[in-house]
Formats: sequence, structure tokens, C-alpha cells
Amino acid sequence: MHEMSLCEGIRTVIEDQARSHDIKAVRRVRVEIGRFSGVEKSALEFAFDVVMRGSVAQGATLEMIDMPGRAMCYDCMHEVEIDDRLAPCPDCGGGKLMPVAGDELRIKDLEVI
Ligand SMILES: [Zn+2]
Repeated sequence: MHEMSLCEGIRTVIEDQARSHDIKAVRRVRVEIGRFSGVEKSALEFAFDVVMRGSVAQGATLEMIDMPGRAMCYDCMHEVEIDDRLAPCPDCGGGKLMPVAGDELRIKDLEVI
């Protein structure tokens, strides 16, 4: 499952942070999820609980923040927000869009004890 390996990545980051900042426990983890990341939220939440067992983030709350997709339009040279990777430019209707954001899944911050 894709979400499992994502959570393993999150756990690695958290454990590195915990070691270098002497963190005893993590209460909440906020992650930003891009619209095009393909992450299924319920699967991510489930995987998070499983993967964090035995780590400093065991029992932590996972808070997911939706990030819009963004693209550069090469017809009007605007950076625009798009809902769909194949959507036309909302400003000029052009089709030459290059996605610049929306694939990401990253940790925004941690609330620690
Ligand atoms: Zn445009």
C-alpha cells in the first residue's frame, strides 16, 4: 500500500527530529497533501496509526491539510490554481499548463510534548 510507505517516510523524519531535539512524544503531526498526490486520506490515517506504533508519535493525531494544485500557463504566463491536472487555464482557457505544485506530501509541523 502506497500510504504505508509514505507513513514510513514520515516516521523516519519524526524520529530524526526526535533524536536531534530531544523530543519525548509527538502529540500531533500536520501534513500538507497536494491535490494530485493521489493520497487517499482514510488509508493514510489508518497507515499512520499502524506505522507510528512503538515510535515517539504513537497515538499522535494526524492532521491533513489540502493543498491546491498549481500550474504555470504558457499561453498567458500566469500561475493558476487548477483542480484537475488536465484542466484548461482558468484565466485564458489555454491548454499549455505545466503543473508546479500539487504532487507533494510533506510534514508541515509537529506538536510535541
Ligand atoms: Zn492561461
